[in-house]
Amino acid sequence: MGKTDIKSLTLGEIGAQFAGMGLPRFRAGQVFRWLSRGAGSFEGMSDLPLPLRQQLDGEYRITSAVVARKQVSKLDGTVKYLFRLWDGEYVESVLMRYRYGLSLCVSTQVGCKMGCGFCATGKSGFLRDLLAGEILSQVQSASIDSGERISHIVLMGMGEPLDNYENVLRFLELATCKEGINIGMRSISLSTCGIVDKIYDLAGKRLQLTLSVSLHAPNDAIRSRTMPINRKWGVDELLKACRYYARETGRRVSFEYALIAGVNDSVQCAQELAGKLRGMPAHVNLIPVNDVTGTGYRKSGVPQQKRFAAVLEGKGIAATVRRTLGADIDASCGQLRRRQEAT
Ligand code: SAH
Ligand code: SF4
Repeated sequence: MGKTDIKSLTLGEIGAQFAGMGLPRFRAGQVFRWLSRGAGSFEGMSDLPLPLRQQLDGEYRITSAVVARKQVSKLDGTVKYLFRLWDGEYVESVLMRYRYGLSLCVSTQVGCKMGCGFCATGKSGFLRDLLAGEILSQVQSASIDSGERISHIVLMGMGEPLDNYENVLRFLELATCKEGINIGMRSISLSTCGIVDKIYDLAGKRLQLTLSVSLHAPNDAIRSRTMPINRKWGVDELLKACRYYARETGRRVSFEYALIAGVNDSVQCAQELAGKLRGMPAHVNLIPVNDVTGTGYRKSGVPQQKRFAAVLEGKGIAATVRRTLGADIDASCGQLRRRQEAT
Protein backbone atom coordinates (compact mmCIF):
# COMPACT_ATOMS: atom_id res chain seq x y z
CA MET A 1 0.00 0.00 0.00
CA GLY A 2 2.60 2.51 1.06
CA LYS A 3 5.00 1.08 -1.52
CA THR A 4 5.18 2.45 -5.05
CA ASP A 5 3.65 0.25 -7.75
CA ILE A 6 6.59 -0.42 -10.04
CA LYS A 7 4.30 -1.54 -12.90
CA SER A 8 2.94 2.01 -13.09
CA LEU A 9 6.44 3.39 -13.74
CA THR A 10 7.92 3.98 -17.19
CA LEU A 11 11.21 2.43 -18.20
CA GLY A 12 12.87 5.83 -17.82
CA GLU A 13 11.47 6.28 -14.32
CA ILE A 14 12.59 2.83 -13.21
CA GLY A 15 16.03 3.63 -14.66
CA ALA A 16 16.22 6.88 -12.69
CA GLN A 17 15.11 5.24 -9.44
CA PHE A 18 17.51 2.34 -9.89
CA ALA A 19 20.35 4.78 -10.60
CA GLY A 20 19.51 6.45 -7.28
CA MET A 21 19.84 3.04 -5.63
CA GLY A 22 23.25 2.56 -7.23
CA LEU A 23 22.09 -0.20 -9.59
CA PRO A 24 23.53 -0.58 -13.10
CA ARG A 25 21.32 0.72 -15.92
CA PHE A 26 20.61 -2.67 -17.56
CA ARG A 27 18.74 -3.82 -14.44
CA ALA A 28 15.90 -1.42 -15.24
CA GLY A 29 15.52 -2.99 -18.68
CA GLN A 30 15.45 -6.49 -17.21
CA VAL A 31 12.80 -5.62 -14.63
CA PHE A 32 10.70 -3.67 -17.16
CA ARG A 33 10.68 -6.66 -19.51
CA TRP A 34 9.49 -8.96 -16.74
CA LEU A 35 6.77 -6.52 -15.76
CA SER A 36 5.65 -6.15 -19.37
CA ARG A 37 5.26 -9.89 -19.63
CA GLY A 38 2.98 -9.81 -16.63
CA ALA A 39 5.33 -10.97 -13.84
CA GLY A 40 3.45 -10.84 -10.56
CA SER A 41 6.42 -10.90 -8.19
CA PHE A 42 10.15 -10.17 -8.06
CA GLU A 43 10.77 -13.69 -6.86
CA GLY A 44 10.37 -15.20 -10.33
CA MET A 45 12.70 -12.70 -12.07
CA SER A 46 15.31 -15.38 -12.54
CA ASP A 47 17.99 -13.26 -14.23
CA LEU A 48 18.28 -10.97 -11.19
CA PRO A 49 20.53 -11.89 -8.25
CA LEU A 50 18.50 -13.13 -5.28
CA PRO A 51 19.54 -10.28 -2.91
CA LEU A 52 18.40 -7.75 -5.51
CA ARG A 53 15.02 -9.48 -5.88
CA GLN A 54 14.63 -9.26 -2.10
CA GLN A 55 15.72 -5.62 -2.06
CA LEU A 56 13.21 -4.69 -4.77
CA ASP A 57 10.48 -6.58 -2.98
CA GLY A 58 11.10 -4.40 0.07
CA GLU A 59 10.95 -1.20 -2.01
CA TYR A 60 8.10 -1.79 -4.43
CA ARG A 61 4.87 -3.62 -4.98
CA ILE A 62 3.58 -5.05 -8.28
CA THR A 63 -0.10 -4.59 -9.02
CA SER A 64 -2.03 -7.36 -10.69
CA ALA A 65 -5.49 -8.19 -11.99
CA VAL A 66 -6.35 -11.75 -11.01
CA VAL A 67 -9.06 -13.56 -12.95
CA ALA A 68 -11.82 -14.07 -10.37
CA ARG A 69 -14.46 -15.09 -12.86
CA LYS A 70 -14.70 -15.54 -16.60
CA GLN A 71 -17.77 -15.83 -18.80
CA VAL A 72 -17.58 -16.81 -22.45
CA SER A 73 -20.36 -15.87 -24.85
CA LYS A 74 -21.85 -18.82 -26.69
CA LEU A 75 -22.95 -16.46 -29.43
CA ASP A 76 -19.66 -14.92 -30.53
CA GLY A 77 -16.84 -15.98 -28.17
CA THR A 78 -16.69 -12.63 -26.40
CA VAL A 79 -15.13 -13.08 -22.95
CA LYS A 80 -16.07 -11.07 -19.90
CA TYR A 81 -13.47 -11.10 -17.14
CA LEU A 82 -13.97 -10.14 -13.54
CA PHE A 83 -10.58 -9.16 -12.11
CA ARG A 84 -9.68 -8.92 -8.46
CA LEU A 85 -7.33 -6.10 -7.47
CA TRP A 86 -4.85 -6.00 -4.57
CA ASP A 87 -7.36 -4.46 -2.14
CA GLY A 88 -10.15 -6.93 -2.89
CA GLU A 89 -12.01 -4.60 -5.25
CA TYR A 90 -13.19 -5.87 -8.62
CA VAL A 91 -13.28 -4.51 -12.16
CA GLU A 92 -14.50 -6.01 -15.42
CA SER A 93 -12.90 -6.18 -18.87
CA VAL A 94 -14.36 -7.51 -22.10
CA LEU A 95 -12.34 -9.30 -24.77
CA MET A 96 -13.79 -9.07 -28.27
CA ARG A 97 -12.70 -10.88 -31.38
CA TYR A 98 -12.74 -8.91 -34.62
CA ARG A 99 -11.39 -9.63 -38.07
CA TYR A 100 -8.49 -7.29 -37.37
CA GLY A 101 -7.57 -8.92 -34.06
CA LEU A 102 -8.39 -9.04 -30.38
CA SER A 103 -9.66 -5.92 -28.70
CA LEU A 104 -9.89 -5.49 -24.94
CA CYS A 105 -12.29 -3.07 -23.30
CA VAL A 106 -10.64 -2.04 -20.02
CA SER A 107 -11.85 -0.32 -16.86
CA THR A 108 -10.19 2.82 -15.55
CA GLN A 109 -11.93 3.21 -12.18
CA VAL A 110 -13.74 1.05 -9.65
CA GLY A 111 -17.20 2.51 -10.23
CA CYS A 112 -17.78 5.99 -11.62
CA LYS A 113 -18.73 9.42 -10.25
CA MET A 114 -20.61 10.61 -13.31
CA GLY A 115 -24.00 9.05 -12.57
CA CYS A 116 -25.40 8.69 -16.10
CA GLY A 117 -28.98 7.48 -15.80
CA PHE A 118 -28.73 4.58 -18.25
CA CYS A 119 -25.44 3.09 -17.01
CA ALA A 120 -24.94 0.18 -14.60
CA THR A 121 -21.50 1.42 -13.52
CA GLY A 122 -22.90 4.87 -12.84
CA LYS A 123 -25.54 3.29 -10.63
CA SER A 124 -22.99 1.50 -8.46
CA GLY A 125 -21.25 4.70 -7.33
CA PHE A 126 -17.54 5.43 -7.13
CA LEU A 127 -14.89 3.63 -5.10
CA ARG A 128 -11.48 4.54 -6.42
CA ASP A 129 -9.24 5.32 -9.37
CA LEU A 130 -7.17 2.56 -10.94
CA LEU A 131 -3.41 2.92 -11.11
CA ALA A 132 -1.80 2.85 -14.56
CA GLY A 133 -0.35 -0.55 -13.64
CA GLU A 134 -3.81 -1.87 -12.83
CA ILE A 135 -5.16 -0.84 -16.23
CA LEU A 136 -2.14 -2.48 -17.85
CA SER A 137 -2.63 -5.60 -15.72
CA GLN A 138 -6.07 -6.13 -17.28
CA VAL A 139 -4.46 -6.29 -20.73
CA GLN A 140 -1.71 -8.62 -19.54
CA SER A 141 -4.03 -10.97 -17.67
CA ALA A 142 -6.48 -11.21 -20.59
CA SER A 143 -3.61 -11.83 -22.98
CA ILE A 144 -2.07 -14.53 -20.77
CA ASP A 145 -5.47 -16.16 -20.21
CA SER A 146 -6.40 -16.20 -23.90
CA GLY A 147 -2.90 -17.13 -25.01
CA GLU A 148 -3.11 -14.51 -27.74
CA ARG A 149 -1.77 -11.04 -28.38
CA ILE A 150 -4.21 -8.22 -27.80
CA SER A 151 -3.82 -5.70 -30.60
CA HIS A 152 -6.47 -3.10 -29.74
CA ILE A 153 -7.55 -1.43 -26.51
CA VAL A 154 -10.68 0.56 -25.78
CA LEU A 155 -10.92 2.56 -22.56
CA MET A 156 -14.63 1.99 -22.39
CA GLY A 157 -15.14 -0.28 -19.41
CA MET A 158 -16.04 0.84 -15.91
CA GLY A 159 -15.20 4.42 -15.02
CA GLU A 160 -14.57 7.74 -16.71
CA PRO A 161 -11.02 7.80 -18.12
CA LEU A 162 -10.71 11.58 -18.12
CA ASP A 163 -11.70 11.66 -14.44
CA ASN A 164 -8.55 9.58 -13.80
CA TYR A 165 -6.52 11.58 -16.27
CA GLU A 166 -2.94 11.35 -14.96
CA ASN A 167 -3.09 7.59 -14.48
CA VAL A 168 -4.72 7.11 -17.89
CA LEU A 169 -2.01 9.18 -19.61
CA ARG A 170 0.60 7.10 -17.84
CA PHE A 171 -1.18 3.92 -18.97
CA LEU A 172 -1.14 5.16 -22.58
CA GLU A 173 2.60 5.73 -22.34
CA LEU A 174 3.15 2.26 -20.89
CA ALA A 175 0.88 0.47 -23.36
CA THR A 176 2.54 2.05 -26.40
CA CYS A 177 6.11 1.64 -25.15
CA LYS A 178 8.18 -0.27 -27.73
CA GLU A 179 10.00 -2.21 -24.99
CA GLY A 180 6.66 -2.99 -23.33
CA ILE A 181 3.43 -4.44 -24.73
CA ASN A 182 3.89 -2.16 -27.73
CA ILE A 183 0.34 -1.40 -28.86
CA GLY A 184 -0.02 1.30 -31.52
CA MET A 185 -1.62 4.54 -30.30
CA ARG A 186 -3.89 4.36 -33.35
CA SER A 187 -5.20 1.06 -32.03
CA ILE A 188 -6.36 2.64 -28.77
CA SER A 189 -9.70 4.42 -28.24
CA LEU A 190 -10.65 6.48 -25.24
CA SER A 191 -14.31 7.00 -24.46
CA THR A 192 -15.46 9.96 -22.38
CA CYS A 193 -18.77 11.37 -21.21
CA GLY A 194 -17.34 14.81 -22.04
CA ILE A 195 -14.90 16.26 -19.49
CA VAL A 196 -14.24 19.31 -21.64
CA ASP A 197 -11.15 20.78 -19.98
CA LYS A 198 -9.38 17.44 -20.28
CA ILE A 199 -10.37 17.08 -23.95
CA TYR A 200 -8.53 20.36 -24.63
CA ASP A 201 -5.54 19.18 -22.67
CA LEU A 202 -5.47 15.85 -24.47
CA ALA A 203 -5.76 17.56 -27.87
CA GLY A 204 -2.64 19.57 -26.99
CA LYS A 205 -0.70 16.33 -26.62
CA ARG A 206 -1.50 15.44 -30.24
CA LEU A 207 -1.62 11.70 -29.61
CA GLN A 208 -2.88 9.53 -32.46
CA LEU A 209 -5.50 8.13 -30.13
CA THR A 210 -9.16 7.79 -31.18
CA LEU A 211 -11.37 9.99 -29.05
CA SER A 212 -14.83 8.60 -28.59
CA VAL A 213 -17.41 10.90 -27.05
CA SER A 214 -20.59 9.61 -25.42
CA LEU A 215 -23.02 12.16 -26.74
CA HIS A 216 -26.38 10.38 -26.61
CA ALA A 217 -28.43 13.53 -27.27
CA PRO A 218 -28.44 16.44 -29.70
CA ASN A 219 -29.36 19.15 -27.19
CA ASP A 220 -29.03 20.16 -23.55
CA ALA A 221 -32.66 19.53 -22.66
CA ILE A 222 -32.34 15.80 -23.39
CA ARG A 223 -28.68 15.36 -22.48
CA SER A 224 -28.92 16.99 -19.07
CA ARG A 225 -31.76 14.64 -18.21
CA THR A 226 -29.66 11.51 -18.70
CA MET A 227 -26.09 12.78 -18.16
CA PRO A 228 -25.38 15.04 -15.15
CA ILE A 229 -22.01 16.13 -16.63
CA ASN A 230 -23.97 18.08 -19.24
CA ARG A 231 -24.99 20.57 -16.58
CA LYS A 232 -21.33 21.53 -16.29
CA TRP A 233 -20.45 21.51 -19.98
CA GLY A 234 -23.34 21.68 -22.44
CA VAL A 235 -23.56 20.06 -25.89
CA ASP A 236 -22.26 23.09 -27.80
CA GLU A 237 -19.27 23.54 -25.51
CA LEU A 238 -18.51 19.83 -25.78
CA LEU A 239 -18.74 19.82 -29.58
CA LYS A 240 -16.49 22.88 -29.76
CA ALA A 241 -13.86 20.93 -27.80
CA CYS A 242 -14.33 17.96 -30.19
CA ARG A 243 -13.75 20.18 -33.23
CA TYR A 244 -10.60 21.47 -31.59
CA TYR A 245 -9.49 17.89 -30.89
CA ALA A 246 -10.07 16.89 -34.52
CA ARG A 247 -8.16 19.95 -35.79
CA GLU A 248 -5.20 19.51 -33.46
CA THR A 249 -4.78 15.78 -33.96
CA GLY A 250 -6.05 15.33 -37.52
CA ARG A 251 -8.17 12.46 -36.20
CA ARG A 252 -11.86 11.87 -36.78
CA VAL A 253 -13.86 11.98 -33.56
CA SER A 254 -16.20 9.12 -32.86
CA PHE A 255 -19.57 9.75 -31.18
CA GLU A 256 -21.48 7.17 -29.19
CA TYR A 257 -25.23 7.56 -29.33
CA ALA A 258 -27.32 5.06 -27.36
CA LEU A 259 -30.80 5.01 -28.84
CA ILE A 260 -33.43 5.11 -26.10
CA ALA A 261 -37.05 4.56 -27.13
CA GLY A 262 -39.04 7.76 -27.00
CA VAL A 263 -36.20 9.78 -25.47
CA ASN A 264 -33.60 10.57 -28.16
CA ASP A 265 -34.53 8.47 -31.21
CA SER A 266 -36.89 10.74 -33.18
CA VAL A 267 -36.27 11.98 -36.71
CA GLN A 268 -36.11 15.46 -35.26
CA CYS A 269 -33.28 14.40 -32.92
CA ALA A 270 -31.41 12.87 -35.87
CA GLN A 271 -31.79 16.07 -37.88
CA GLU A 272 -30.67 18.23 -34.99
CA LEU A 273 -27.65 15.97 -34.41
CA ALA A 274 -26.69 16.10 -38.09
CA GLY A 275 -26.85 19.89 -37.95
CA LYS A 276 -24.60 20.03 -34.90
CA LEU A 277 -21.98 17.72 -36.39
CA ARG A 278 -21.91 19.40 -39.80
CA GLY A 279 -18.41 20.07 -41.08
CA MET A 280 -16.68 18.02 -38.40
CA PRO A 281 -14.73 14.86 -39.29
CA ALA A 282 -16.97 12.55 -37.27
CA HIS A 283 -18.41 9.09 -37.09
CA VAL A 284 -21.56 8.23 -35.16
CA ASN A 285 -21.90 4.83 -33.49
CA LEU A 286 -25.53 4.11 -32.84
CA ILE A 287 -26.05 1.64 -30.01
CA PRO A 288 -29.49 0.35 -29.10
CA VAL A 289 -29.43 1.16 -25.36
CA ASN A 290 -28.81 -1.93 -23.23
CA ASP A 291 -31.50 -2.69 -20.74
CA VAL A 292 -30.02 -2.10 -17.35
CA THR A 293 -32.28 -2.98 -14.45
CA GLY A 294 -33.72 -0.04 -12.64
CA THR A 295 -33.06 2.58 -15.31
CA GLY A 296 -36.47 2.42 -16.93
CA TYR A 297 -34.92 2.99 -20.36
CA ARG A 298 -35.77 0.73 -23.27
CA LYS A 299 -33.96 0.28 -26.56
CA SER A 300 -35.38 1.75 -29.75
CA GLY A 301 -36.89 -0.67 -32.23
CA VAL A 302 -35.00 -1.74 -35.34
CA PRO A 303 -37.06 0.53 -37.66
CA GLN A 304 -36.27 3.55 -35.48
CA GLN A 305 -32.58 2.61 -35.45
CA LYS A 306 -32.51 2.35 -39.23
CA ARG A 307 -34.45 5.57 -39.67
CA PHE A 308 -32.06 7.45 -37.37
CA ALA A 309 -29.01 6.18 -39.25
CA ALA A 310 -30.60 7.02 -42.60
CA VAL A 311 -31.27 10.63 -41.60
CA LEU A 312 -27.64 11.07 -40.53
CA GLU A 313 -26.30 9.42 -43.69
CA GLY A 314 -28.65 11.52 -45.79
CA LYS A 315 -27.03 14.60 -44.34
CA GLY A 316 -23.53 13.32 -44.99
CA ILE A 317 -22.71 12.13 -41.47
CA ALA A 318 -21.11 8.67 -41.29
CA ALA A 319 -23.18 6.44 -39.01
CA THR A 320 -23.29 2.75 -38.14
CA VAL A 321 -25.57 0.76 -35.90
CA ARG A 322 -23.21 -1.12 -33.64
CA ARG A 323 -23.28 -4.88 -33.57
CA THR A 324 -23.86 -6.18 -30.06
CA LEU A 325 -21.22 -8.59 -28.82
CA GLY A 326 -21.52 -10.80 -25.75
CA ALA A 327 -25.24 -10.11 -25.32
CA ASP A 328 -25.80 -13.39 -23.46
CA ILE A 329 -23.21 -12.54 -20.78
CA ASP A 330 -24.15 -8.86 -20.25
CA ALA A 331 -20.87 -7.77 -21.76
CA SER A 332 -22.17 -4.83 -23.77
CA CYS A 333 -21.48 -1.17 -23.22
CA GLY A 334 -22.66 0.22 -19.94
CA GLN A 335 -23.57 -3.16 -18.49
CA LEU A 336 -20.39 -3.72 -16.55
CA ARG A 337 -20.93 -3.63 -12.88
CA ARG A 338 -18.78 -4.36 -9.90
CA ARG A 339 -19.79 -7.62 -8.25
CA GLN A 340 -18.88 -7.89 -4.60
CA GLU A 341 -20.42 -11.32 -4.33
CA ALA A 342 -17.84 -12.76 -6.72
CA THR A 343 -15.39 -15.32 -5.43
N1 SAH B 1 -17.19 6.74 -18.93
C1 SAH B 1 -16.89 6.63 -20.30
C2 SAH B 1 -16.47 5.25 -20.73
C3 SAH B 1 -17.18 4.09 -20.08
S1 SAH B 1 -18.89 3.91 -20.49
C4 SAH B 1 -18.04 7.12 -21.14
O1 SAH B 1 -19.10 7.37 -20.59
O2 SAH B 1 -17.85 7.30 -22.34
C5 SAH B 1 -18.76 3.15 -22.10
C6 SAH B 1 -19.88 3.48 -23.04
O3 SAH B 1 -21.08 2.79 -22.67
C7 SAH B 1 -20.25 4.95 -23.11
O4 SAH B 1 -20.42 5.34 -24.45
C8 SAH B 1 -21.56 4.97 -22.37
O5 SAH B 1 -22.32 6.09 -22.66
C9 SAH B 1 -22.16 3.67 -22.82
N2 SAH B 1 -23.29 3.19 -22.05
C10 SAH B 1 -23.50 3.28 -20.74
N3 SAH B 1 -24.66 2.67 -20.39
C11 SAH B 1 -25.19 2.17 -21.53
C12 SAH B 1 -26.35 1.42 -21.85
N4 SAH B 1 -27.23 1.05 -20.91
N5 SAH B 1 -26.57 1.08 -23.14
C13 SAH B 1 -25.68 1.43 -24.10
N6 SAH B 1 -24.56 2.12 -23.87
C14 SAH B 1 -24.31 2.50 -22.60
FE1 SF4 C 1 -19.57 6.76 -15.90
FE2 SF4 C 1 -19.47 6.40 -18.55
FE3 SF4 C 1 -21.29 5.11 -17.04
FE4 SF4 C 1 -21.52 7.71 -17.42
S1 SF4 C 1 -21.64 6.13 -18.99
S2 SF4 C 1 -21.75 6.65 -15.47
S3 SF4 C 1 -19.41 8.35 -17.44
S4 SF4 C 1 -19.09 4.86 -16.95
